[in-house]
Amino acid sequence: MDLILLGPPGAGKGTQAKMMADRWEIPQVSTGDILRAAVKEGRPLGLEAKSFMDRGELVPDRVVIGIIGERLEEKDAAGGFILDGFPRTIPQAEALQEILAGLGRKISCVLSIEVEEEKLVVRLTGRRICRNCGQSYHLVFNPPARDGICGRCGGDLYQRDDDKEETIRQRLTVYREQTQPLVGFYESKNLLKRIDGSDSKEKIFSGIVEVVESDCRG
Ligand code: ADP
Ligand code: ADP
Ligand code: ZN
Repeated sequence: MDLILLGPPGAGKGTQAKMMADRWEIPQVSTGDILRAAVKEGRPLGLEAKSFMDRGELVPDRVVIGIIGERLEEKDAAGGFILDGFPRTIPQAEALQEILAGLGRKISCVLSIEVEEEKLVVRLTGRRICRNCGQSYHLVFNPPARDGICGRCGGDLYQRDDDKEETIRQRLTVYREQTQPLVGFYESKNLLKRIDGSDSKEKIFSGIVEVVESDCRG
């Protein structure tokens, strides 16, 4: 199963992707996580991406398309994957089709997680991330059992540099202008499944399981 999670920053893509990866035993492929790891390790990719990420802008298509092309060729993605945060532009979506065609496969479904904008800001300003496994927490909606510590792996939690209100507003504008058009793009290919993302994460997950297990296994 080759799945895409589409949705604005803070919609819950990362949270759902981890639950989906556990259920269907396919990897979560997050371009945001890959880029943040490259920044942390000081790799050339990170140096190139950092200024865009700090400003809340998209990293150039060429860079993220290169990352995905390499990542989807790895062995663990052979039985399927969950793309979280890619594609984010029409050129990225077109490049993905070519990459998949080259591997003899195609997208099974695109799940569009929909949440109103004011909720997104509240979710993102309270978000905390595990430095080790990338699990997302929220100070109010999904607090860790022990303050500052990941319940999944014991890693310490931090706040992303781009989860500040000004940068969040910029990311939401970028989403509206550059990423939202993908909803229509995938709808016209009959791949889009709309998911109401305003419920609890457990209810959203049951909705996703139902849709994927009935409509996306081809
Ligand atoms: P994305 O990957 O789409 O940016 P995340 O999965 O990181 O989103 O979630 C954003 C924030 O909202 C995190 O703090 C997360 O704990 C919280 N969150 C995720 N799902 C829900 C939900 N259904 N209800 C409330 N908060 C949520
Ligand atoms: P969120 O979970 O809040 O949606 P991500 O972790 O997916 O955020 O992305 C963080 C930042 O990484 C983005 O603001 C952007 O700068 C960069 N990025 C991630 N994925 C892409 C992509 N597919 N295309 C361009 N830039 C990306
Ligand atoms: Zn962790």
